[in-house]
Amino acid sequence: MRPISYSRVADVATAIGTVAADPGSTFLAGGTTEVDLQRIHVARSSRLVDINDLPLRRVEELPGGGVRIGAVARMSDVAQALPVRRRFPMVSQSLLLSASPQLRNMASIGGNLMQRTRCGYFRDVAAPCNKREPGTGCSAMHGVNRGHAVLGTSDRCIATHPSDLAVALVALDAVLLTQGPGGHRQIPADDFYLEPGQTPDREHPVAHGELVVAVEIPPLPMASTSIYLKVRDRESYEFALASAAVAVSLDAGVVTGVRLALGGIATKPWRARRAESVLVGAPATVESFRAAADAELAGAVSHGTNAYKIELARRTVVRALRTVTGDARMVSDDGNPP
Ligand code: SF4
Repeated sequence: MRPISYSRVADVATAIGTVAADPGSTFLAGGTTEVDLQRIHVARSSRLVDINDLPLRRVEELPGGGVRIGAVARMSDVAQALPVRRRFPMVSQSLLLSASPQLRNMASIGGNLMQRTRCGYFRDVAAPCNKREPGTGCSAMHGVNRGHAVLGTSDRCIATHPSDLAVALVALDAVLLTQGPGGHRQIPADDFYLEPGQTPDREHPVAHGELVVAVEIPPLPMASTSIYLKVRDRESYEFALASAAVAVSLDAGVVTGVRLALGGIATKPWRARRAESVLVGAPATVESFRAAADAELAGAVSHGTNAYKIELARRTVVRALRTVTGDARMVSDDGNPP
């Protein structure tokens, strides 16, 4: 039995002050991951500070076409919010394809973005895990790693980042707004998530007591027809084996702009900048899409049973690009579907 104290706060300053003053404390929002981690002793907080009463639940339209989402807003509410559905359908889709309806009704946006990996060894306190206990080793490296990453890995950790929403936000150049003892910060989503390198226990640059208060998505007209494609073992309540968030603008069949990020295959939500640079100026054909996927995956490294993910990711990218460019019937020069 491990005693945990609980308090509920109603303003941001008190929440930050309470957590910052106690190294053993943690923010608690929807609790859909945090409570699990406390129960299995992966997280070992002595105090939980409930932030569900903070005034951070709104979804607001920003001038020029952007959106600001409060960190305590529920996943289901954000997925249904009209400005999100209309301006950034990839965000709405990424939320609706996550978890289950019950979890989406409870889980907060901030919690979704801060969620920990689903690597089974991370959640087994009897197993060596560099992310949970630095320096103990990585059980997945030569263990069960079918769901693990092929991009952004290191010799310390190959765990996949689990958030679907984060993939869409990275594609859209979203910015996370934080507030902490040191003041306010704005952190681009792509910088918020760190590759494991030699310190897989450090997953983001947020300090103890610093709270994600909102996410801002800047205007992007081509995102109004964007999509989030998720490939998984079953059609609901499952994490991605591979996913792609994509928006494209075309002029006379030529790609003039593209945003592409990948999930399920990397240690962080993966902005596919190599693929983007191949695509811009290229004709919107299956051959271009394949070349873009190949460029992005050229550096992929497998660890045995996750080797299939490289080809799966390639096909996911091509299919997402075909879908968003509006030609699902597109075939390659040899007449075969990609
Ligand atoms: Fe731990 Fe990362 Fe290895 Fe999983 S992949 S056991 S999280 S170090």
